[in-house]
Amino acid sequence: MTPFTYSQPGDSTNAVVLGSKQEAKYLGGGTNLVDLMRETLERPAILVDVTGLSSVIEERENGSVLIGAATRNTAVAEHRSIRALYPLLSRAILAGASGQIRNMATVGGNVLQRTRCTYFYDSEGSRCNKRSPGQGCDAMDGFNRIHAILGASSSCVATHPSDMCVALAALDAVVHLRGAHGERMLPFTDLHRLPEDHPEIETRLEPGELITAIELPALPLAVRSTYRKVRDRASYSFALISVAAALELHDNGIVKDVRLALGGVAHKPWRAWKAEAALRGQPATEQNFQSAAMAELSEARPLRDNGFKIELAKRTMTAVLMELMEARA
Ligand code: SF4
Repeated sequence: MTPFTYSQPGDSTNAVVLGSKQEAKYLGGGTNLVDLMRETLERPAILVDVTGLSSVIEERENGSVLIGAATRNTAVAEHRSIRALYPLLSRAILAGASGQIRNMATVGGNVLQRTRCTYFYDSEGSRCNKRSPGQGCDAMDGFNRIHAILGASSSCVATHPSDMCVALAALDAVVHLRGAHGERMLPFTDLHRLPEDHPEIETRLEPGELITAIELPALPLAVRSTYRKVRDRASYSFALISVAAALELHDNGIVKDVRLALGGVAHKPWRAWKAEAALRGQPATEQNFQSAAMAELSEARPLRDNGFKIELAKRTMTAVLMELMEARA
């Protein structure tokens, strides 16, 4: 591990002053960053520990819920309001990692965790454009079973690893930020980038900008929502495919509103805008769910080993929507 200085600012203003310095990194629970530092994939000169900042979950007058970025994943998943109003978020978090890791991991850190592409971590033996821009990508023609089918580029085919982020994408969450030039808010679906020619740039954060909170807007249909994760083993495994969904029907069985997002398919949590548009105003039937899923996946580009993800994504989206429809009956 490369030597670094450690600081623990008492408020977000001081955190941003420190975090805006060159080679500084914010530290949440450290469940990904410390691993990356051990592997010397991250070499911050200054580590700014922000775990002492806001860890409050606050229900606001406008019906939204504000989650401080330092809140531990377990606290979010177990919170009464989250479980009641946004069950897909609670389920997504509980589908991730292990109990011990969820106890340590923070919301802000979860959002900014990096891909688990094995070639990215193999700094001794593999080429990786994300780790070393311009070097090449050994996943492209390598073992790419876990890699992206949507939104990838000729530079990078990595997937985003977070479960929580898939739920936040479906919920129209808003990211609260503080930087050297003040505060701003960003739709969660705009926070992460697709790889394009610069997979090393993963978010739209400005240098030194700190995530201070995630806001969940009032979304009544989220009461009927769920998260399903398909993976190689029952726990402690990243998603091959995951689906976060909320569904609201008219009394006559027509889809009034729907939210859908996918994990395990792209460099960012993938909001299924096309599938949602295909479903609104249509009868809630298995056939329509399948058609909507295929509309979303029409631009999927499989690699050598991951063509199965297209059918798996279609089946999982359909099954999750069927589950929500039948739960209503
Ligand atoms: Fe690196 Fe992306 Fe290629 Fe993986 S897929 S080796 S992260 S460039």
